[in-house]
Amino acid sequence: MILLTLWSVSAALVPGSTISYAPERTSTILKWKSGSIKIAISGSLLKPGANMKADSDAAGAINRSLATWAKAAGIVFQESVTEKQNVSPSGNMGDGVSLITIAQTPENLLLFSKNPQEAAATTRVFFDRKGFISEADIVLNPYQQFSTDGTFGTFDLESTLTHEIGHLLGLDHSPVLSATMHDNYGKNGVFGLQNFGSRTLAEIDISAIRAKYGSDSGDATECCGAISGKALVSKGIGAKGVQVWAEDSDSGKLFGEGSTRADGSFRFDGLPAGDYTVYAQQVGKLKSAFSAQEIGNVEVESGDASPLIKRLVANVSDVELQYLGFNGQLSELAVPLNAGRSYTLYLGGKNIDKDQISIRFSSPFLTHSKKTISNVNFGDDITVVSFEVRVDPLTPIGEYSLFAESKDGRRSVIVGGIAVRSFSNPFSIFTLSDN
Ligand SMILES: [Zn+2]
Repeated sequence: MILLTLWSVSAALVPGSTISYAPERTSTILKWKSGSIKIAISGSLLKPGANMKADSDAAGAINRSLATWAKAAGIVFQESVTEKQNVSPSGNMGDGVSLITIAQTPENLLLFSKNPQEAAATTRVFFDRKGFISEADIVLNPYQQFSTDGTFGTFDLESTLTHEIGHLLGLDHSPVLSATMHDNYGKNGVFGLQNFGSRTLAEIDISAIRAKYGSDSGDATECCGAISGKALVSKGIGAKGVQVWAEDSDSGKLFGEGSTRADGSFRFDGLPAGDYTVYAQQVGKLKSAFSAQEIGNVEVESGDASPLIKRLVANVSDVELQYLGFNGQLSELAVPLNAGRSYTLYLGGKNIDKDQISIRFSSPFLTHSKKTISNVNFGDDITVVSFEVRVDPLTPIGEYSLFAESKDGRRSVIVGGIAVRSFSNPFSIFTLSDN
């Protein structure tokens, strides 16, 4: 089913969650002092009311979402069940109990409105002046519908909780579309798919949590190293607020993303040992001075910070990629694809024309056929092309970038817009053979 007229970002999306910090958020790095964290599950979640689809496996979803983070980093959760139902009121201190609740009490309902575009959940984090978290309460929005079986029009409970537990651990939102910590995620049904993408962590979520808590001691990967670098406008002058990201040099998988500070410096922590390619682009500005470009290659070793300093090349690009899509829809969500299949993707933004740009991937596992690119009319405010992408059968699960290159070699990138996942996206054109 292709609905070419269905062009809607806002209708397809609702915020996954909001996060409130009490007391006021400073620039402090938030984390728990100890990696051993007590979590109290409200009985309201184990005997949920009408806003949880009947026969949902709420207990399983809670356990799995906690285990997902515990497996990624040096964290141990101690779960218990409590009769408590209410979020702690905002203030300097909570009640010391980190609660996960869905109870429809007046205190919890105050956090939300009945607007269906409202967040799926809110996490309220309490911390001290040093940034050490003492309590974090997760409240699932009692006005929203949840399920664990992918029912369209409901939020996936496990995806929602996995995102909120990231906040509970001190993580902020990520601008990368395929990150579990991205601030929007759809209800089940966007792109005609069940939305299980946030049940698992993207590599950049794993790097972010390992930067705070280290890796799990039983983990075989050589973790963790870092890249510390600086992007310059000219000698001695930093390039401020430029998006930078790090990909595995061989697979093209995304492992780190951020933006440069006022002096042009940036840092990626929590990286497994390996070879990385680092890129930069100025985003959100048409005719930006720095179109996407490679900063350099670095080898990262466990325990070290590998340095990288580069003067950016000023090159203005007219092309700006903003949205990716699939199944006749464009959105600000990542596109979940399966290895070994071929799909028709949509790419929307400014000055995107099949005769003026070529589509490229940094990963050797992703390819497209030039013959398949065509312009698509989605209205006056946006230019869109569609094309066929082939995902090699051996593509590792992970997040990948896609870029458009104009004839003069200038590039715009959607960082981590493609998510290769194990849950099924059946809307493929065909299945690729293994040989
Ligand atoms: Zn959030």
